Amino acid sequence: MMIGKDTPRRLSIFGSTGSIGQNTLDVVQQLGGRDSFDISVVTGNENVELLAQQAKASGARLAVTANDGKYEALKAELSGSGIAVAAGVSGLGEAADMEADWVMAAIVGTAGLAPTLAAARRGATIALANKECLVSAGDLFVDAVKAGGGQLIPVDSEHSAIFQSLDEAQRHAVERIILTASGGPFRTWSRAEMANVTVATARAHPNWSMGLKISIGSASMFNKALEMIEAKHLFDVRPDQIEVIVHPQSIIHSMVGYTDGSVIAQLGSPDMRTAIGYALDYPRRPQLNVERLDFAKLSRLDFEAPDEERFPALRLARTALERGGLQGAIMNAAEEVAFHAFVDERIGFLQMADIAEAVMDRMVGTGGARSMDDVFAADAEARRLAAEVVAINEKAA
Ligand code: NDP
Repeated sequence: MMIGKDTPRRLSIFGSTGSIGQNTLDVVQQLGGRDSFDISVVTGNENVELLAQQAKASGARLAVTANDGKYEALKAELSGSGIAVAAGVSGLGEAADMEADWVMAAIVGTAGLAPTLAAARRGATIALANKECLVSAGDLFVDAVKAGGGQLIPVDSEHSAIFQSLDEAQRHAVERIILTASGGPFRTWSRAEMANVTVATARAHPNWSMGLKISIGSASMFNKALEMIEAKHLFDVRPDQIEVIVHPQSIIHSMVGYTDGSVIAQLGSPDMRTAIGYALDYPRRPQLNVERLDFAKLSRLDFEAPDEERFPALRLARTALERGGLQGAIMNAAEEVAFHAFVDERIGFLQMADIAEAVMDRMVGTGGARSMDDVFAADAEARRLAAEVVAINEKAA
């Protein structure tokens, strides 16, 4: 299928060198490549060699590395290609300013917020993988997309599933949304067993192949915690309407329950290209070369209640949702600092949640967000406090 055969859809890919970014370029190829998409910008951070290859292969007009120190290397890689090069925060600003109908927001972490927000304000439709935008900026982000005139299309497989299962004409009859969770590699482990796990064990997801942060987040269930907050803002539901169910096979990607007792679900192989393709070709369904479900082979689908004792991140998400205001931004920022400390082997796996909780409690008096300045200020303060708590934990160890 060709998207906009006569007028290719202009697409920018923020975070093109990552797991979602690379899958996005694969989907672009499957959907007709340059006949269907006019790639405006590709962005990366460390991996400038891959970024340059992607820029040349896709015919992008601008390539941006977020890392100022990599500017010369990227320039050298692209010399003579006619592709413009930029770097750093200002480079990401240039990326956001480039004309694009669609932006795939696939930078990892809060670093994605500023460029994605700027692109939304300019009127781009946002295919959102970077959940941290919604967790941190919440309704301010949703409002910015609306004010810009674009749309917000979720790429997270769970939220894509809900988006696909949510009948807008029956919005009033939505009772609950049910996020499925694989349970990650430690689904059956005790806290004592989880206490000393390594980064290598924590990143080995049983079903999905993903970037480092989300893989670790799946093991700690912090990723599901972020997704609960993401769901609240995307679908405008109350916290008590958001449920999580552990479903180890990752076949049902999520569900919507209605007032008549019906539950509508979206199913598929655990392959992000389905959700990416859905977002890139929206509102049509593309032809995609992904593995089809064979129900006879599957034979069973299992479900378990999540355990908030062993996975306290879920409880923290509920707390953040109940407290409201900037608690989502605070939880997200503290968790990001704790994640880096775990990856650097400065703290243990279980301490990530302890650190996020300590910071959330210390900042419980922070008010709501009237503007993005409030979001960035809360984010910075939460990072400062989290770094302090990490240092205390290190000394105590
Ligand atoms: P990866 O770590 O694989 O890729 C992250 C991308 O962001 C890379 O292009 C990386 O560049 C770039 N990047 C890293 N740090 C910065 C920075 N400071 N400033 C700007 N760019 C930066 O992540 P994923 O693709 O796994 O995830 C991306 C987002 O999508 C996350 O928010 C994640 O939660 C979400 N998501 C991912 C899913 C998946 O299957 N992977 C599923 C659902 C959601 P470089 O590699 O060059 O350093």
